[in-house]
Amino acid sequence: HFGYPGDVIAERILRLQPLDMRMQLKRALHQSYLLNDSYNNDPGSLQLALDYLAQQAGDAATTVILSDMLETGRDETEIYRQVAAQLAARNVHRLIGIGPAISRQAALFHAMLPGSVCLFYPDTQGFLQAMPGLAFRKEYILLKGARTFAFERISAQLEEKVHQTVMEINLSAMAHNLKVYREMLQPATKLMVMVKAFSYGSGSGEVARLLQFHRVDYLAVAYADEGIELRQAGISLPIMVMNVDEASFEALVNNQLEPEIYSFPIYRSFHLYLEKQGLQQYPVHIKFNTGMNRLGFEVSEAAALARQIQAQPTMMVKSVFSHLAASESAKDDAFTEHQVLQFQEACTRIQEILSYPFIRHIANSAAIFRRPAYQLDMVRLGIGLYGVEASGSEKPDLHTVTILKTTIAQLRKVPATETIGYNRRGVLQRDSLIATVRIGYADGFPRSLGLGKAGMYVRGHIAPVVGQVCMDMTMLDVTDVPGVSEGDEVEVFGRHIPVQQVAAEGGTIPYEILTGISQRVKRIYLEE
Ligand SMILES: *Cc1c(COP(=O)(O)O)cnc(C)c1O
Repeated sequence: HFGYPGDVIAERILRLQPLDMRMQLKRALHQSYLLNDSYNNDPGSLQLALDYLAQQAGDAATTVILSDMLETGRDETEIYRQVAAQLAARNVHRLIGIGPAISRQAALFHAMLPGSVCLFYPDTQGFLQAMPGLAFRKEYILLKGARTFAFERISAQLEEKVHQTVMEINLSAMAHNLKVYREMLQPATKLMVMVKAFSYGSGSGEVARLLQFHRVDYLAVAYADEGIELRQAGISLPIMVMNVDEASFEALVNNQLEPEIYSFPIYRSFHLYLEKQGLQQYPVHIKFNTGMNRLGFEVSEAAALARQIQAQPTMMVKSVFSHLAASESAKDDAFTEHQVLQFQEACTRIQEILSYPFIRHIANSAAIFRRPAYQLDMVRLGIGLYGVEASGSEKPDLHTVTILKTTIAQLRKVPATETIGYNRRGVLQRDSLIATVRIGYADGFPRSLGLGKAGMYVRGHIAPVVGQVCMDMTMLDVTDVPGVSEGDEVEVFGRHIPVQQVAAEGGTIPYEILTGISQRVKRIYLEE
């Protein structure tokens, strides 16, 4: 229309920054969470945001910061009566109304929300001035306002300050992946989800709350501390703990965590502990070794173990399980089948002696869809939930859950005669434009990816790493990236560079990359 040639348009489109118009959940001041949805405000989208707030908040206190509804044509009192009813239905603890219209309805809100604190301010500036006097602590805050109210000024005040490398976790994609795996299950098969190691790096409470909301049957963690964290985050689902020792018994019992019993010594010491506490029928999970050779009873020990459990009142077997060593690889299918047969043998021996039924499970993510016959009574979903499927040719339709992003701190022109970084290992072949980005091996970007092994995605191009990865920073060759500028967003892995590719380039597996992203990298939760 304005007569710009095609190549100019193409070049300038690359300079456009994406606008984040999705609901974002971030950590905020004083152990609060901020759910930021400050781009529109109407009763329909308010309902969606309140649902998401309720899903994440559980029993924690909630505050809703709401601007005027910019909706014309409907009676003002009628609109706010509907809003107040929505807030009342959700038991919102505090309402902060900002704008002249919502302030005019103060009496209506006080009447319809008698148990809530309701505060009103004529504009965003007025609220910002009052903010230091309002305590925000250990609560979930929904920020929802029409664009003209510039609520980004409020979110900037409420958010915890970050260094600009973030891991985005898309909870909608995670819910999609959960559904994909659920649809593969036989109708009676239960679902346990592995949320060990900080949910494969994605955050524990946030992910577990989503799983609880979607009613999975069981969660599993590696260590008691991880289970305690979930209880403190308000998770009431049953939780299996895989790696227990004597020192953790008290914490386990106090938090209703269910241990994996993997050897006679651990069986005996837990039995003695329960006996001393006067506890009976404590739920436990029996692990068999069928070829992984890590933890577990031998199959030949099954009958002796079952006789002891049956003779003592202290424990109750909730489930019996084993772990597959190579379920993702077709060349090991015969071995996998052998493991399953061994496992069935162990279950039969136990069932002959125990007087009650128990859940049998052996399948991890890859086995769920490659070997549906091994789903048995329950499956243990791990990496697939996080959108990664390591195996084979036919892949389930998974969505990317995690995106690791950083930004360019500085750009510099460097002549061909110079080198980049430590030990002068980055040798330039030409005059180059070098970008320094805010991520290093301390953040979990492996040092093995330096010297051109990996690249990062900048403005539609893959820019290779030059020189060694440093502790907190990495240098990229952006000579061939038109329009690049300081502050640009850089994708380390996610949508354009799959985490599987980064893992392969670093000579490792996606599990190690995902769980290795350090806690200093801020997690942001998105709901689309
Ligand atoms: C981690 C783990 C799983 C999940 O494995 P994925 O390959 O991530 O699906 C299942 N079972 C046990 C015992 C595990 O430790």
